[in-house]
Amino acid sequence: MIARNAWRLVEEPESLWGMMLKAKYFKNSDFLNSKCPKSASWAWKCLHQIKEKIKPFITWIVGDGKFIDPWCDRWIPEIGTAQPKQNTNPEPTLKVADFIDQETRTWNRSKLHMHFDQSFIERIVAIPLSSATSRDRRAWELTRDGVFTSKSAYFGLRTQRNQTSEEIWKAIWRTKLPHRIQLFIWKGAKNAIPVRDILYKRMNIGDNRCPRCNQDTETVIHALVTCPYVSRIWQSSILHTTTEQFRDKSLLEWLKFWLGIDPYRRNTNLPEEFPFVACLMWSIWMSRNDLLHNNHLQSDQFILNRALKMTPLHQNPVRQIIATGDSEPHTTSAWRPSRNGWTKINTDGAWDPINLKGGLGFIIRDCLGTFKFAAAVPTNVSSAEEAEIRAIWIAMKKAVELGIKTLEIEGDAAVVVEQLQRRNYRGSWNTEAFLRDIEVWSTNFEKLSFNYCPRLCNSVAHELAQWAKNSQYSMFWASPPMWLIPALGRDHTLF
Ligand SMILES: [Zn+2]
Repeated sequence: MIARNAWRLVEEPESLWGMMLKAKYFKNSDFLNSKCPKSASWAWKCLHQIKEKIKPFITWIVGDGKFIDPWCDRWIPEIGTAQPKQNTNPEPTLKVADFIDQETRTWNRSKLHMHFDQSFIERIVAIPLSSATSRDRRAWELTRDGVFTSKSAYFGLRTQRNQTSEEIWKAIWRTKLPHRIQLFIWKGAKNAIPVRDILYKRMNIGDNRCPRCNQDTETVIHALVTCPYVSRIWQSSILHTTTEQFRDKSLLEWLKFWLGIDPYRRNTNLPEEFPFVACLMWSIWMSRNDLLHNNHLQSDQFILNRALKMTPLHQNPVRQIIATGDSEPHTTSAWRPSRNGWTKINTDGAWDPINLKGGLGFIIRDCLGTFKFAAAVPTNVSSAEEAEIRAIWIAMKKAVELGIKTLEIEGDAAVVVEQLQRRNYRGSWNTEAFLRDIEVWSTNFEKLSFNYCPRLCNSVAHELAQWAKNSQYSMFWASPPMWLIPALGRDHTLF
């Protein structure tokens, strides 16, 4: 409850209560940066204490940038506050607004270069700016729309205290997996699997090199994830995951990533893939032992298939995809053109969680199902949700350009569609700017509806997004490209 009160002070500093406290405790700053004098009342001391605890979860979402102090406020994703360029002092009067060209609503790179190092500039220019100016907003980082909830505060404060290992254990335990695989993963997290590096250090066995590549030291992360021979298996699996990023990390980081535990990288889609990730790690370990003890080399395909067989069926995204691809789709789950007089746009976003490469795709068809326009645009994104929202954003931008007045937008991202149906345009640092644009553009339409459709009915947009992600080319088509025709044909034979 105290946390909720503290958050109210952050969000509504102009409330009567906020003004009273301001006069007393933070005349010259704001609540988040306020101090706690010894003479303060008991209530203020409590409030101050809880404020310090929730502070790490509060960020600014950049609007016009006029309120944000670049050096004191948290506004850069994953870093927080900015640091001045080497050998320069922070200029105290600067606001984030000074780095934004308000006319074009883009970041002013030359201005940024005067004050920041390259690594900061790259992070800053990745922050999207909406085309219409809006006020800066303080956001709560632990919910997807930045709105404070007591539950998320409780969770956030708790994980802050006892950090990783207990959380990981619980997450592994909650995942439906064969018991021996759960134990194996847990041992891996505790660095307790007999890889050569550990045996070498403890028992002084002769060789600490990896039996697969014969080059690098066989640590746990090397044996299960980053060895070039193992990396190839992850790459060719349904996850299409690159492992490069984890080269210098521990297995704990890898597990945290797939479990979505790290608060700065939380993503609701990843935990669904965890059972398969766990089974593949186990299968890779089995093949390593077979190689070491029996001198028998198992094929990548064999290792992948064994992991698939071990993955519990209802949690197996891979099997679901195969199953729906093989069977004849049911007629009620087929794509349909929009109602008379309406134009339909199907959108989809694709995303690779490891290299952060993404793709946006959309296709415009009229009420007879006739192809009007399609696009595939590669982009760097930091979550699946961002990719989905940006796909809708770019589709709407095109619809406005084409002067479409009656529009139905259809996509398979249920959470995003549901949010737009409620006309809720709040997001996080990487989505809010796009949602604001969507809000502004929606006034251009006489009729506009957002609808959810199952993946199967969205296959054309899906292929466009995948194409953009894989090719990294931007393409716009006024008539369909050859490779898209089979997917278009499928939609047509079905309605
Ligand atoms: Zn190796």
